[in-house]
Amino acid sequence: MYRSLFKFVKNKIPRISPTELIALRSGNTSLDRQILQGQINFPRKIEYTQKFPEESLNELFEKFDNSTIYPNDNDNKWIKYLAENKYFSFLIAEKYGGIKLSVNELSDVLTKISSVDPSLGVATMVPNSLGPGELLTLYGTEEQKDNFLPKLANGEMIPCFGLTGPDNGSDATGSIDKGTVIKVDGKLKIKVKVNKRYITLAPVANLMGIAFELEDPDNLIGKSGVTLALVERGHEGLIQDTHHNPLNAGFPNGTIKGEFILDIDQVIGGEENIGNGWKMLMECLSAGRGISLPATANAGCKVGTFGIFNYMKVRKQFKIPLSNMEAIQQKFNNIIYNTWIVQSSVSLTNDILDNGNSPAVLSAIMKQQTTERGRMALNEAMDIHAGASICLGYSNFLEKFYRGTPIGITVEGSNTLTRSLIIFGQGLNKSHPYIYPILDSVLNENMDKFKKNFNGIVSHSLGLYFKTFGFGKDLEKQIVDFAALTNFVALKGGLLKKEQMLSGDMADIFSNLYLALSVRYYHMNNNASELLTNYVVKRLMNESQLKINKVIDNLGPERFLLQHLKKTVKDIKYEEERNLFNEVMNNENIINEVKKNIYIKNNILEDLEKVNTLDKDDPKFKILKDRIINVGEFEN
Ligand SMILES: Cc1cc2nc3c(=O)[nH]c(=O)nc-3n(C[C@H](O)[C@H](O)[C@H](O)COP(=O)(O)OP(=O)(O)OC[C@H]3O[C@@H](n4cnc5c(N)ncnc54)[C@H](O)[C@@H]3O)c2cc1C
Repeated sequence: MYRSLFKFVKNKIPRISPTELIALRSGNTSLDRQILQGQINFPRKIEYTQKFPEESLNELFEKFDNSTIYPNDNDNKWIKYLAENKYFSFLIAEKYGGIKLSVNELSDVLTKISSVDPSLGVATMVPNSLGPGELLTLYGTEEQKDNFLPKLANGEMIPCFGLTGPDNGSDATGSIDKGTVIKVDGKLKIKVKVNKRYITLAPVANLMGIAFELEDPDNLIGKSGVTLALVERGHEGLIQDTHHNPLNAGFPNGTIKGEFILDIDQVIGGEENIGNGWKMLMECLSAGRGISLPATANAGCKVGTFGIFNYMKVRKQFKIPLSNMEAIQQKFNNIIYNTWIVQSSVSLTNDILDNGNSPAVLSAIMKQQTTERGRMALNEAMDIHAGASICLGYSNFLEKFYRGTPIGITVEGSNTLTRSLIIFGQGLNKSHPYIYPILDSVLNENMDKFKKNFNGIVSHSLGLYFKTFGFGKDLEKQIVDFAALTNFVALKGGLLKKEQMLSGDMADIFSNLYLALSVRYYHMNNNASELLTNYVVKRLMNESQLKINKVIDNLGPERFLLQHLKKTVKDIKYEEERNLFNEVMNNENIINEVKKNIYIKNNILEDLEKVNTLDKDDPKFKILKDRIINVGEFEN
C-alpha cells in the first residue's frame, strides 16, 4: 500500500527548483509551526540592557537638520556621520570594533531613527541587515573578516548589496548577471559583467557585495552557481556613476555596472563558497524581513497615531474638535487597530529572534503585514490630517512616511508575491510538521521516512479534524480550525502555486492568527488595555473568519466536510467603536505605549503633545496652535 501511496504523492508534489529547495531548507520554525499544530507556547520575554547609548541617539537627533540624505550638496554629511559614529556596526562583533546589538535593541534603535526621518532609518538599516557585514560575519574567511569587518565597524567602508537588475526583480536568480572562471597568467580569476539597479546605498558605498551566476565552462574549479563576492569602489572596470530617485524619499539608491575581473579570494568565504550564494542569502534574509522593515513600519504607525491623537483634539471645524466627529473616530480606530498590531507583532517577533530562532515564514509574514498595515494606518492618518498632510512644511509629520510606504512594500520580496506565493505556499512546506519530511523522503526515495511521516500526517490530520467539532476559546478554536483547513487545502499540492487567490487568502488567515497571538502576548507583557486587546483580536478574527468561509466555498467536494467551520461573522458594533475610541482617549497607558521609541523633542510632535496640556487662555496655546494648523508657505 505504501508503495502506491509513495507513487501518488510523488506525482502530486510540485516541481521544486533548486533555489526553492534552498529557501525551504533555510531558517527554522517557531509559532508558525505551532499554529499548524494547533498548540501555542509563547517565547521567553527578553529584557535587554542598552548597549548603544541613548545620548548618542539624542546627539544625532539634535544635530539632524532635516536636510536630504541623498542627493545633497553637503558632501554626504549624514551618511558620514552615521558611518563614523558606529551606526553601521550593529551586526558586527565587538572583537572587530562593532557594537553588536540584540534584535530587540536593534529594532528599537531603527524605530527611533526612522521616527525622526525614514530615510535616515533606511540608511542605517541597510548596513545592519542583509549585506557584506552579515555575510562576512557568517561566511567570510578569517582573512576577509580581519580585513573588512573593522573597516565596516568604524565607518571607513560603507557597504551595499547588489542582487537585482533590469531582468531579475522578484525572480532574483532567474536572469542574474553572469561570471566565468578564467585563467590569467596561470592564476584562476573570475570575469563578471554586472548590471545592477535599485541598489540602496550604492551611490555612496565603497564596498559592494554582488551576486552573480558563476559558470565554469572549462571545469577549472569544478564548481558553479550563484556566488557572492566583494568589490571595492575604484576597481578597474566597475562603474558607479548613476543613481535613481525613489519617490524623492531622499536616501541613496542606484546602480552598479561594468565588466571586470575578480580574484577568487574576493568571493565571500573564498573558493569553498562558490555556488552557495543563494543559500547564504536565504539564511540571512530574516533580518531585513523580520527586523528592519517592520521597525520602519512601526515608526510610521507610531508617529501617525501619536500625531493624529493630538491633532484631532486641537483642530476644530464646525466649532467642534475633529475628535468629536464619529467619522473621524472611526478612522482613528482603524489607525490604532493597525498600529497596535504592528507594535505587538514587532515585539513578539523580536523576542522569537532574540531567543535564537530564525523563522523564515514568520519573517515573511512580518515583512508583508507590517508594511501593508503601515500603509493602511497612514492612509487614514492622511485623511484626518487632510490639507495639512498634503502640503509640505514644518507641521506635516506624515508625508515622509507616506512616500516611504510603497518602498517598504516593494523591497525584499514584493508584497504581492510574498502574500500570494510565499507565506502560505512556503509556510505549508516549511511550517507544517509533516509535509516537508514527506517531501524530503520522496526526493530522497526514503521509504522508511515516508511511512513514518505518512502515518504521522494521517493521525495529525484526523486528530485536528475531530478537534474542530469540539468547543474552545475563540482564538484557540480558530487556530485549530485553520490548522485543520490547511490539511485539506494542502491536498491541492503543486496546484497551489497557480491558485494564488486561494494561497493569498490562506496567507491572510495564517498571518492574522500570528498577529492576534502577538496582540495577546503584548498585553501579557505590558497590560495596557484589555478593551483594546479584545477589540483588535476580535477584528482580526472576524477578518479571518470571512476568509475561512470564502476558502471553504471555493474548495471542491471536500468543502462538504468543512461546513461546520463556516460561521456567521458578527461585525463590530457602532457602540464597540465608540467604546474603543473613548478607551484610547482616556486610558493613558495606550498612548504611552505608542510613544515608546519615537523621538518627540524640538519637533512638531512635541508641539502637538504640549498644546493639549495648555489652557486655551494661555498665550502659548495660540502660538502652538498656529504652528500646528498652519502649513508651509513658500515665496512665489
Ligand atoms: C527603493 C528600492 C530599494 C531596493 N534596494 C535593493 C538593494 O539594496 N539590493 C537589491 O539587490 N535589490 C534592491 N531592490 C530591488 C527589490 O528587491 C525589487 O524591486 C523587488 O524584488 C521587486 O522586483 P521588481 O521591482 O522588478 O518587480 P517585478 O519582479 O517586476 O514584480 C512586479 C509585480 O509582480 C509581482 N510578482 C512577481 N512574480 C510573481 C509571482 N510569481 N507570483 C505573484 N506575483 C508576482 C510582484 O510582487 C510585483 O507586484 C530595491 C528596490 C527598490 C525599489
